[in-house]
Amino acid sequence: MTDLGQSWDNEVVTEYVCETCGRTEQLTQQQAYQAGWDYPPFIGSWGVVSPRTCGSCLIDTTAYWTLITQGAAAVEADERHMATIRRIVTEQPPGSIPYAGPGQAYQLDTRKLSDDG
Ligand SMILES: [Zn+2]
Repeated sequence: MTDLGQSWDNEVVTEYVCETCGRTEQLTQQQAYQAGWDYPPFIGSWGVVSPRTCGSCLIDTTAYWTLITQGAAAVEADERHMATIRRIVTEQPPGSIPYAGPGQAYQLDTRKLSDDG
């Protein structure tokens, strides 16, 4: 779905939060990708549960992994995972229109993406 390397907004700096080690960095999407962050748009989608990890941490410590391997109850029992879920459902994609609310799909601002051809 994502056209890697072409549809990223390389100008916008966003805060990346590793759900496993807690590291935060202010990066553009290109910088985050090169540093090995698992984050939308190169992994998963904004507002949808998927890994949110830095380049040093593995998928098997994420809320996403716990959800698919152990189920929702295991996620709900872990406050770190619940904090991650709350952050994911309220995150704002760089260069997008505001998030419409839980359960609503993000709409990328395609006008901005198409500006430079
Ligand atoms: Zn990490």
